[in-house]
Amino acid sequence: MPNLERQLPPALAILHELAADLQWSWNHSGDALWHQLNPAVWESTGNPVSVLQFTSNQRLQQLAQDQGFLTHLARLVDERRRYLDEPGWYQRHYTQATSPLPLKGIAYFSMEFGVCDALPLYAGGLGILAGDYLKTASDLGVPLVGVGLLYQEGYFRQSFDEQGWQEQTYLFNDPGSLPLTPLLDKDGSWLDVTTSFLCRDVLFRVWVAQVGRVKLYLLDSNHPCNQPRDRGITSQLYGGGTELRLVQEIALGIGGWRLLEQLGLEIDICHLNEGHAAFATLERIRAHCVKHKVDFWQALWATRSGNLFTTHTPVAAGFDRYPESLLHRYAGEAALEMGVTMEDILALGRANPKDDSEAFNMAYLAMRTCAHSNGVSELHGQVSQRIFQPLFPRWPERQVPLGYVTNGVHIPSWAADETDTLWSEVFGPHPWQDDRVFQHPEQWQAVSDHRLWQLTSNSRARLVEYARQRYRRQWRHESNQLDCSLPNVHPLDPNILTLGFARRFAEYKRPDLLLHDPDRLARLLCNSRYPVQLLVAGKAHPADEQGKAKLQRWQEFVQREDVAKHLVFIEDYDITLARYLVQGVDVWINNPRRPWEACGTSGMKVLANGGLNLSSLDGWWAEAYTPDCGWALGDGGEYGTEQDAADAEQLYQLLEQQIAPCFYTRDAEDIPRQWLQHIRTSMAQLTPRFSTNRMLQDYLERYYLPAARQYQQRLANQGTLARELRQWEQHLARHWHEIHLGKLIITEKAGACFAEVQVYLGGIAPETVAIEVIADPVAGHGAECIALELAYPLTGAVNAYHYQGSLPLYRPISDWSLRAIARHPHAQVPAENPLICWAD
Ligand SMILES: *Cc1c(COP(=O)(O)O)cnc(C)c1O
Repeated sequence: MPNLERQLPPALAILHELAADLQWSWNHSGDALWHQLNPAVWESTGNPVSVLQFTSNQRLQQLAQDQGFLTHLARLVDERRRYLDEPGWYQRHYTQATSPLPLKGIAYFSMEFGVCDALPLYAGGLGILAGDYLKTASDLGVPLVGVGLLYQEGYFRQSFDEQGWQEQTYLFNDPGSLPLTPLLDKDGSWLDVTTSFLCRDVLFRVWVAQVGRVKLYLLDSNHPCNQPRDRGITSQLYGGGTELRLVQEIALGIGGWRLLEQLGLEIDICHLNEGHAAFATLERIRAHCVKHKVDFWQALWATRSGNLFTTHTPVAAGFDRYPESLLHRYAGEAALEMGVTMEDILALGRANPKDDSEAFNMAYLAMRTCAHSNGVSELHGQVSQRIFQPLFPRWPERQVPLGYVTNGVHIPSWAADETDTLWSEVFGPHPWQDDRVFQHPEQWQAVSDHRLWQLTSNSRARLVEYARQRYRRQWRHESNQLDCSLPNVHPLDPNILTLGFARRFAEYKRPDLLLHDPDRLARLLCNSRYPVQLLVAGKAHPADEQGKAKLQRWQEFVQREDVAKHLVFIEDYDITLARYLVQGVDVWINNPRRPWEACGTSGMKVLANGGLNLSSLDGWWAEAYTPDCGWALGDGGEYGTEQDAADAEQLYQLLEQQIAPCFYTRDAEDIPRQWLQHIRTSMAQLTPRFSTNRMLQDYLERYYLPAARQYQQRLANQGTLARELRQWEQHLARHWHEIHLGKLIITEKAGACFAEVQVYLGGIAPETVAIEVIADPVAGHGAECIALELAYPLTGAVNAYHYQGSLPLYRPISDWSLRAIARHPHAQVPAENPLICWAD
């Protein structure tokens, strides 16, 4: 807030700019400087804005004279200039191939952004991913802006009562001390965005978080001109009921896209991080209608190719759904403005557009208004094909148009300083600002075992130190004695095998699987030959009583005297705690029930730091696991709760019989050679693969670049192609039922297999349909799909043709089926047109 901005001595004025750039959350070269300014405030908040606000004039004057401080400051300013000004990997990589640059801009929409704890706008993995996404776009120079909401309260902070029951505290996100700046209009006033529903205008003021080179725009309904109720729209992340949730999603989607238009940003890709923001695609259509004076449907065809939907949910129940009545209330006016009926809009959010009883599904809306969609791991891509199959009736599940990009993590955010130094030694400074780390994994061979062992040992010691601090703090806070001295246990040991388990306490993650047999866990921890220690953390959703009961089980277990030295539950899991954990643990445990973990990212965070994974074969680990880089739980099958006991047994066995012995098998120099071999493999092979660098490059190559090209084609020449596509769609819809497929005749002769069929197309032009023979995968043969060629017209019939083609000889004739589908060289089929007709 401008009125809180401190007057700094002129020599230090630049500190405001440094404090406002969240690059400090992953580039730690400035930490010492903030610490020097005000150690107490820096250590408790980790927020440079607070440091500036709570430091005295006297201290500031003193540092303005301190040559050492000024030199450090000058170096940081210089480093930052260079980071911002130098062309990024994206510019360097793509200008050589194409000019002008193929992408104008990407807008990344998300309900949550977990950039750092000083800007607490996240609840879990979805938000952390979004934060890592922005940072990576900044590092690589990808032209991207983020769009989200500024909540007056972030997700809850966790503590426990005397019964071990979770308590939630909601803190006020005081915008005056968040690393944000108000977005000002050209005339110097605070810019706002107006949306209208319920016959009134709702205003959103806009804040900017600077994430290196990337801007994150945040809409805030706490605008003084709003009606009191409306000021609370952005009150809480995932707070309130269904109605507030819908209004928040309207704010994000409609308000967010409106903002981009108002700013005049050139955006070709609208990327929805989960279906929450799907209304953005409707607002994009509306803006297009106004600008190009076309109707809704042509605008849909024009814009859809530039929209990408990433789904993160492994179950259909996870989608946001709204009753029709709510949609009428809130979107009626918008539909009118777009020149369509409410029925048209509702149809976009239903699997069966004609079924009035179906609720409006945000993920379906996203699927229908985005020409491109993806899941977040290979397995999740397949699961999503199953979930979205109802939108593509009569299409085989494997052809549901939904690909995948496996998530990654932003390594500089999760790597310890010492890890960072090691990576820079191997690949040169700032290895994550381009694609060097992908080129030469063999360079890891030059790193000695001693070096790796030292790295992991130092990180483990730092974690132990930090965990003890947190433990002392939470013990003090729980204590209701007058005596405030610390208890007599001094938990944890920097030299023993350290396991970490931290995640949301959601049922499918089975956060109490390790407690299946508490005595056995206690024996594992207290084993005198192979001692083990365990750090646990995680929050349960405030409404999730089951999750809270599981937390309570852990709270009870940690009271046991025998395990007290070997086990700490650290409350209030957040990014800061996650960083220490993933840097310091030897093994990261994750035991979800497959296939419920769409991807999972916490296990990826340990890779760069030399941690190893023990995880269910679910999400990313199903792709990553090999026996030389970690341990797998389960057999890759999918079961219900009946498998829990067997999985717990396997979990204990792996820890007792493989993991602990491997860690404690040492040579004469006390080095665990085999353990280090695992680390080397995991670090070298997996870290780059599961980084956001790889992920963002996948998004560029598989989605952004082709989508931007298609979008630009559809826009060219006053939207000629978009108009043609709309006409093509209408033409097919009108006449599709007139198609008649004759009998498919397959003959084998002279060592070849030949398919022929007579097709009556009715009113449909032959170039607008494809006639295909298709075979499902069976034992020994994969799926196949072969387009037949139009050979010649049938004499004596109107618009009827002989189609033919050759088929592979190796599969039985009965495998093949015949179908007609829509065809256009510039349309995505079936994503944009799922018409299909099978031969009887
Ligand atoms: C990485 C992270 C998550 C997501 O991890 P999962 O693997 O999905 O459990 C959640 N919360 C925090 C604080 C994280 O750092």
